[in-house]
Amino acid sequence: MTTIGVLGMQGAIREHVRMLEALGVDTRVVRSVEDLSQIDGLVLPGGESTAMRRLLDRYGLLEPLRDNTELPMFGTCAGLILLATEVEGYDAHLRKIPMTVKRNAFGRQVDSFEVTLPVKGIDEAVEAVFIRAPQVASVEPVVDVLAEVEEAIVAVRYDKYVACSFHPELTDDLSMHRYFLNVVAANKHQLA
Ligand code: GLN
Repeated sequence: MTTIGVLGMQGAIREHVRMLEALGVDTRVVRSVEDLSQIDGLVLPGGESTAMRRLLDRYGLLEPLRDNTELPMFGTCAGLILLATEVEGYDAHLRKIPMTVKRNAFGRQVDSFEVTLPVKGIDEAVEAVFIRAPQVASVEPVVDVLAEVEEAIVAVRYDKYVACSFHPELTDDLSMHRYFLNVVAANKHQLA
């Protein structure tokens, strides 16, 4: 059985749990280092990356997650920011995906918007909700760009890490989570 953790610091935690349950996997809200040994993959929800960082420090999870090289991770919005090796103007957090991100990059007028977005590796266009979303300003060549909005990179994959600057968990579209579960399954297979 596959168990997917949802980082339980702050943000859209329950929404991700709902999506994962709809896809038939077990879930666990992760708040301690012990929780990490029980899961096959970890979702980092949207919310506020600076608040999440403070809580990661307080719960003693920053270093264990930074040092972990086996656990697949999927970050949405603030979660994407957590996964970047560089964050413009801020100290980077988990440093998994070699890319530079810019917070709140879509500007005030388009604070929030919704589009139907073609994503590489997913057959049907994905319903994408953007809320004060970051953009990926640049990626190292090893990173696979999965989606762009007007030339801004908004979804990427690198090795066992997937990130998008929108919120699939605020829609009924399960395709990004399904994509991540395939990454988790491939990783599990490799470890076995
Ligand atoms: N603006 C938030 C941040 O910088 C991200 C927004 C979100 O997750 N909806 O952390």
